[in-house]
Order: sequence, then structure tokens, then C-alpha cells
Amino acid sequence: MADQDTLHRRGLMFILSSPSGAGKTTISRMLLEADGEIRLSVSATTRPRRPGEIDGVHYHFVSDADFDRMIEEDDFYEWAHVFDHRYGTPKGHIRAGLKDGHDFLFDIDWQGTQQLYQKDQQDVVRVFILPPSLDELHRRLMARATDSSEVIEGRMERARAEISHWDGYDYVVVNDDVNVCFGKVRAILHAERMKRARQTGLIGFVRELMD
Ligand code: 5GP
Repeated sequence: MADQDTLHRRGLMFILSSPSGAGKTTISRMLLEADGEIRLSVSATTRPRRPGEIDGVHYHFVSDADFDRMIEEDDFYEWAHVFDHRYGTPKGHIRAGLKDGHDFLFDIDWQGTQQLYQKDQQDVVRVFILPPSLDELHRRLMARATDSSEVIEGRMERARAEISHWDGYDYVVVNDDVNVCFGKVRAILHAERMKRARQTGLIGFVRELMD
């Protein structure tokens, strides 16, 4: 039973998007470690597992046939082709969780963000993480990757395409310094939780004033 003297609210869908290399994965991990109230929405993908990735934790790694079946059975909130593979957000426990006041973190691209926003404007918070500059992004991709310059150029091309959709977001945070960026993202989450419109129940004494 809900406590009379606390605020009650719906959960929110907290979306983080960025081009690869802008630090989104690190910020997501920091947020999940620091904040006990938010859970990761684990996507399904047809892309192969990378070293260190765990099925069911980082993604649900599924075959093309499984992905087709999930589409047919209407299992996805949204799905999209991203680069050479398909990615989708399973409905799973999200809908019920939101009602119970649980927050979910989504690491999805601009296409998924648009689809979720069209379905549920009330619960969605869209945050875009930008690198400080394209030169800096290039430097980061070079520093972390053992990839050929062709692969890096491909990533830069995709980064430019992703950044061109920055206007479909509520918040934009530049990741100059990962700790500062994390602090800003966390502040957004805290403020969004306190929005009056999200409160579904009133604190006892406020309710008495309204009666
Ligand atoms: P990666 O293969 O590097 O893990 O992810 C590639 C891109 O797919 C990232 O931009 C990531 O945000 C996006 N992505 C991951 N899961 C989903 C999803 O469920 N839906 C959509 N639309 N994009 C996703």
C-alpha cells in the first residue's frame, strides 16, 4: 500500500542517445551504478555478441528469425535498422514497471527515440550527448580503436548523421569531461522525477488543503 505522506509518480523512460565515441556507454553505466531506482531496458539485437558482452545483460542476442517472430508477435515498443543490424526495445515489464513508478534507461538511437516519443510523450525524457567537437570525436575513435582508418571514417560518417538529429531531443549535454557530463545527466533525471505533472498522488497534507 502506498504511504499517505509520500509523493507517488509514474516511472519515466530516460533515453540517452549519442554518436559512438561520445561517451554514452560510460555515462549509462555510471548512472545505473549510482542510482538504485533506474533499470536498463535491455534491447534485442541481431548483431553478433562482442567480447565481454553478456546475453540478457547488455543485449538479448537473437537470430534474424527470432527477431522476425518478435515483430510478428508485437513484442517491441520500437525497432530499427541501425547500421547493418536490427535493434529493438522489448515491451517486457516496462509498461507495468512504469505504472509502479520504476524508471527505465534506454540506450537507443534517434529512430527508436522518435518512435518511443510518438507512443508515449508523457513518460519519455530525451537526452542527447554531444562530443565537444568532431575533431575530438575523431581523436577519441582513433585512440580507442584498433580499427582501420576506413572503419573510423565510417564511424565518423555515422556520427555526423546521428548528430544531425540532435533537435529531436529535450536536453543536450556536451561531454567534455565525463564526471561533469554525468553530473549534468543525473541532475536532469532528478529534476524530471520531481515534475508536478508526473505526480499521480498527493502528499497527505496537500490533499487535505485541496479538499
Ligand atoms: P551497438 O551495436 O554499438 O551496441 O549499438 C549501435 C546503436 O544501436 C547505438 O546507437 C545504440 O544506441 C542503438 N541501439 C541499441 N539498442 C537499440 C534499440 O533497442 N532500438 C534502437 N532504435 N536503437 C538501439
